[in-house]
Amino acid sequence: MTGDLLDLTAAQAGQRVRAGELSASDLFEAWRERAATDSLNAYRWVADAPPPEIAAGAPLGGVPVAIKDLFCTEGVPSAAGSRILEGYLPPYTATAVEQLAQAGAPMLGKTNMDEFAMGSSNENSGFGPVMNPWDESRVPGGSSGGSAAAVAAGLAPWAIGTDTGGSIRQPAALCGIVGLKPTYGSISRYGMIAFASSLDQAGPLTRDVTDCALLFRHMVGRDPLDSTSTGLPEEVRLPDQERLDGLRFGVPPELTRGGVDPGVAAVFEQSLRHIEELGGTLEEVSLPHSDQGISAYYVIAPAEASANLARFDGVRYGLRAEAGDLASMYEDTREHGFGDEVKRRIMLGTYALSSGYYDAYYGRAQRVRTKIAEDFRSAFERVDLIVTPTSPTVAFGLGERTDDPLAMYLSDFCTVPMPLAGIPAISIPGGLSDELPVGIQLAGPAFSENRILEAAYALEQAIGFDGSGARG
Ligand code: GLN
Repeated sequence: MTGDLLDLTAAQAGQRVRAGELSASDLFEAWRERAATDSLNAYRWVADAPPPEIAAGAPLGGVPVAIKDLFCTEGVPSAAGSRILEGYLPPYTATAVEQLAQAGAPMLGKTNMDEFAMGSSNENSGFGPVMNPWDESRVPGGSSGGSAAAVAAGLAPWAIGTDTGGSIRQPAALCGIVGLKPTYGSISRYGMIAFASSLDQAGPLTRDVTDCALLFRHMVGRDPLDSTSTGLPEEVRLPDQERLDGLRFGVPPELTRGGVDPGVAAVFEQSLRHIEELGGTLEEVSLPHSDQGISAYYVIAPAEASANLARFDGVRYGLRAEAGDLASMYEDTREHGFGDEVKRRIMLGTYALSSGYYDAYYGRAQRVRTKIAEDFRSAFERVDLIVTPTSPTVAFGLGERTDDPLAMYLSDFCTVPMPLAGIPAISIPGGLSDELPVGIQLAGPAFSENRILEAAYALEQAIGFDGSGARG
């Protein structure tokens, strides 16, 4: 019985609760027990008590949600994958999490992640790596690796994560689930522990596109506590179109050729055939600056991170090293609290912002960012959506790229241009290569989430991906 219950998609389970066929508290208990069996190191914390009463008729029906540990949750450990925040109990809850709870999706647990969301494999977590449920010797992707692994493994019905350069879409791809990086500003960043504030955006990680639309619908909104939040100009619709007639898809050679593994390219080609069969048209569009996305991103994101992470000094949050004087206390706290990748980014970012180098690095990266946004703008004059692989490779082995930061950064090749331009993109499973999932990415203009979700839904039906191979 419990097994069947947990096989339902979140939308189906919520419907049963609303129809009175299932109690929200039984559903929560079943998921809590399942989450507690985690052997992938996907969770950092699992709820230890039932949630407050779910209001009758709540739109999400009481289906619990796993929360990336980057979101502050009142009185619940929130460490953003960092030892420097060990023991930190925030005095408030992030707006996105609060909104989901109000809509009837209580918190199931907090999921493991790369430290401060810096990483593409979850191996930068201060609390150990997460394993990919398709093959436990491989990474789940990152930085929202715990959220992606939990959903793929059937340890959570759905989850939320954040994406700065690919951290929702890439782990979704590597774990064979759906992940949406929404338009910058559509969801409040209030209560998200900041990495790169001009790029960070929350979004859903789900088993299918319908769950993705449903969860996203209740995350969006303008929030007075985040002055960069805009909400969405239209209500998020649950997709139901099974055709792609009249939709024009752009295929950018820069993000679909060199560097993409043959197995990934084959699944990508198949999805292009599906698009045509469903009535969509394909057209080559150039994004001439997108191959400079990685270079620009790895200046801009560390620059913003170096400023954001200055607040972790041992005085206000979490860890505090014992030292004789104040300056040594700051230094020792940061020395012991931060991991290697975080230190590397702070140094890179501080250097890129230092006087004399600011224009050569940060200024130039910002100009590239503008060019990338212009590339997308002109592409979207000709096509409705852009389609690419999400990740150039399938899930790689644990430890395979840890000694080579540049190889690790290249994992984000197909996903960084979109956040640089502030535009939305989804990853859906396209099929398997060597028994490992391959993600297909659809990107659209700012605020085109409904179009993206409709197209992703139609494609999902045609692909018919079976994710049960990863569920226990
Ligand atoms: N992998 C990228 C990085 O390491 C993106 C991370 C993210 O989107 N948070 O910065």
